[in-house]
Amino acid sequence: MRLSRYFVPTIKENPSEAAIVSHRFMLRAGMIRQSVSGIYTWLPLGLRVLTKIENIIREEQELAGASEVRMSTIQTADLWKESGRYEDYGDEMLRINDRHGRELLYGPTNEEVITDLFRKEVKSWKQLPTLLYQIQLKFRDEIRPRFGLMRGREFTMKDAYSFDIDEENSVKSYYRMFVSYLRIFNKMGIRAIPMKADTGPIGGNLSHEFLLLAETGESEVYCHKDFLEMDIPDNVDYDGDLSKYFQEWTSKYAATDEMYVEEDAKKFGDDIIKTRGIEVGHVFNFGTKYSEPLHAVVMNKEGKEIPVHMGSYGIGVSRCVAGIIEASHDDKGIIWPVAVAPFEMVVLDVKPKDEESSKVANDIYKNLKNHKLDVAIDDRNDRVGSKFADMDLIGIPLLLVVGPRGLLDGHVKLVSRKSGNSINLSVEEVQERIIKAKSEDSLQKFVDSI
Ligand code: ATP
Ligand code: MG
Repeated sequence: MRLSRYFVPTIKENPSEAAIVSHRFMLRAGMIRQSVSGIYTWLPLGLRVLTKIENIIREEQELAGASEVRMSTIQTADLWKESGRYEDYGDEMLRINDRHGRELLYGPTNEEVITDLFRKEVKSWKQLPTLLYQIQLKFRDEIRPRFGLMRGREFTMKDAYSFDIDEENSVKSYYRMFVSYLRIFNKMGIRAIPMKADTGPIGGNLSHEFLLLAETGESEVYCHKDFLEMDIPDNVDYDGDLSKYFQEWTSKYAATDEMYVEEDAKKFGDDIIKTRGIEVGHVFNFGTKYSEPLHAVVMNKEGKEIPVHMGSYGIGVSRCVAGIIEASHDDKGIIWPVAVAPFEMVVLDVKPKDEESSKVANDIYKNLKNHKLDVAIDDRNDRVGSKFADMDLIGIPLLLVVGPRGLLDGHVKLVSRKSGNSINLSVEEVQERIIKAKSEDSLQKFVDSI
């Protein structure tokens, strides 16, 4: 990507409407623009981050045995009346009438629609377990949309749904998703901690929220400090016993203030940190709450019709973009983890008008691109100081500075956004090292070593 032809409308001043860091930097870095309260347009840079997060989710959900679907955003009110939630959901639901006067709504969540799909398609225990997910827009008419994408009205959610023959198997599906979530957030470069949660309007008995610790979070949380260091499940056999991971990750105390019980936390004494958190995911196991009213039944082995046991599993995909920024930034701007950065690196052509040095910059750019690096070249004819400031603001993990002065001494400069440190390397060596790190899938480690 050539930034001279890319759409990056960065802003120098702090926008007055942004109360928290992530919102401020997303506006300033030209990632999003508000179209109307709580509703946003994604600009190219922002969309790249969103898409990378979506793809991490896809990869991990498929590993855990879930298949992707895409349901409609507009739903019929009839299904919600059948489940008994139509009235309960209240003003957060955007209700619409079509030209024939039929009642429709913009989906705030999809339990009803997926259960309807399931009941029409699946008839036998032999087809279970079924695990489906989608990444899709939701609309909730939040009373106070705020903090940009953190609490929007229209937002992207990953929602998954499990269908099992009985309680025991549905708990296994719950563990699958639980483990998958630990891995997903870790891959995004954030630590989200599972906390015992209230099940709210979704209902059910087993539920965890995944919270990213951040001072700007809306929830007050109490959390054992060991969760910050606990190992993420690796080489997971999703068909094996997953309860060990679940046990480990629920063995110590972590709860939001709604669920906080002082006596339980006290046992861990000073190891409990009181801080704030952002809810980035929520998993529920709710048995037959929807399958019974909607009559989603299958034949069991004995030939008897029984309602299926279900769970639902959400990730606030667009909220994650903001959450990552809350967790990783400095005064100058965003510091993206490599896995979700809009570009892994940018070659900064210091003087696009200097033919010789500009050619070197362009050659490096093309070569790295050929080696599958997600690289852009900043070939804009701006002052170099303002180009640096933009790169700091946008938060590109690696910046390769190519200019006539350095080249005279035979080197280019590689800068890590995270540490601010830089190293001078020859044109050949810098490319070798980056290409090697990329091919070993260790770019983040490489960045961290600078
Ligand atoms: P909250 O308590 O923050 O209102 P919720 O519990 O109502 O969220 P869920 O129904 O659990 O939300 O939805 C799944 C995920 O979707 C949440 O964990 C959250 O990350 C995300 N989410 C929910 N509401 C919003 C919103 N208004 N804007 C952005 N993301 C949201
Ligand atoms: Mg929730």
